[in-house]
Amino acid sequence: MALRLTNTLTRKKEVFKPQDPQRVTMYLCGPTVYSYAHIGNFRPVVAFDVLYRLLRRIYGEGNVVYATNFTDVDDKIIAAANETGEPMAKITQKYAKAYEEDSAALNALKPNHRPTAIAHIPEMIAMMEKLQRKGYAYETADSLLFSVQQMEDYGKLSRRNRDDMIAGARVDVAAGKRDPADFSLWKKAKPDEPEDAQFDSPWGKGRPGWHIECSAMIAATLGKTIDIHAGGQDLQFPHHENEIAQSECAHGEPLARFWLHNGFLDIESEKMSKSIGNVKIPHEMLKSTKGEVLRMALMAGQYRQPLDWTEELLDAVKTTLDRAYGALRRVWKSGSARWNDKAVFEALCDDLNTPQALAEFSRLISEANIAADHNDKEAMAVARANLIEAGDLLGLLQSTPDEWEKGGASDDTARIDALVQERLDARAAKNWARADEIRDELAAEGVEIMDGSGGSSWRKV
Ligand code: AMP
Ligand code: ZN
Repeated sequence: MALRLTNTLTRKKEVFKPQDPQRVTMYLCGPTVYSYAHIGNFRPVVAFDVLYRLLRRIYGEGNVVYATNFTDVDDKIIAAANETGEPMAKITQKYAKAYEEDSAALNALKPNHRPTAIAHIPEMIAMMEKLQRKGYAYETADSLLFSVQQMEDYGKLSRRNRDDMIAGARVDVAAGKRDPADFSLWKKAKPDEPEDAQFDSPWGKGRPGWHIECSAMIAATLGKTIDIHAGGQDLQFPHHENEIAQSECAHGEPLARFWLHNGFLDIESEKMSKSIGNVKIPHEMLKSTKGEVLRMALMAGQYRQPLDWTEELLDAVKTTLDRAYGALRRVWKSGSARWNDKAVFEALCDDLNTPQALAEFSRLISEANIAADHNDKEAMAVARANLIEAGDLLGLLQSTPDEWEKGGASDDTARIDALVQERLDARAAKNWARADEIRDELAAEGVEIMDGSGGSSWRKV
């Protein structure tokens, strides 16, 4: 079955064929790391992790190269640095680390490259010099600007008319701007900007614009023309339009063959915003909700469609995952067999139809339960293989049934294991007071200890 993806560039669902099946390239615009990312920011992370898993399945694990960046120099980071008085790097490292941890908790595979903007300033400068040499860029008192009138097909991705583009481009009436749609490649340093946001360049000290960062990082990590470029739909204009302008005018070849954009996530039918006070932060949510639950909820809608994040959705997902692990437990000890059900794979090949894939996954859960009901050993082994196989594609069932019951394979598990062991040691030393104390402590956080002949185990209740 061929993989078909909706390409924003053509507005059509097209059969995906890479330039080189032994080196399939994919880029996702990453976060600006000045605060904890919200649940909406993780929608592209999960959606395109599903795509990465699918591509690895189709072309082989070693044949897909996935890059996603960190934007570590930007107005918002400078504002955060000015506010806290901390160096920018301290802020960006803290939030980049949290983002990587949270992505891992959502079972997103590690990308092959995680470039940062600051590490690619020389490549950006080389690209801007090239654009200037070719007549696509001009210098003003406070910036180096890209001249959109020099590019014949500027606007081809978002297909906006000129007035919309001007309205959409945050127009600062910068002195010397030839066209309101022109955008900054390089921003010359202003007096109130921190030293660590200033880099040397042929246009004086300053910093790169956001768009050139991605253009240069893509070329540096993946090449001039990549197979897939992804991001949230809000990035179509101006960010992706401007990436196209810079890269194509500098290199003289297309930037990306397929452009994929995810729809937005709302909270209980409302736009997520600070003013409404409904911003959900996985870094916080993960303290009480398993990463796999958040992941599965993010997959409940097809990635291009809007997704409404509700309490009911989370409850439904929790129930399904408990059911999935319950079924997996029943067939867990069955021998090995080959998987033979391709329905999840085929649903994903249809433009990453995750709702359909999850429906097929539910059917596999039922099939495992039916096989176990009948104690049909052969069917149980096949059901186990199908569940694990589908789970690997979807990034689900990544814990063992035991780990799941204990709350997922997290640091928390190690901490509770250690306390349970300490209690056993205390009992062996007849230190009943300490043993009871630990039992009460764990009970208070919902952990029940079960003493058996072979030692103690525990579960979350
Ligand atoms: P930002 O750090 O604002 O550039 O956002 C990082 C990524 O998250 C971009 O790809 C955005 O398109 C995406 N994004 C931001 N808010 C949402 C949302 N509510 N739903 C889905 N994606 C979002
Ligand atoms: Zn980008």
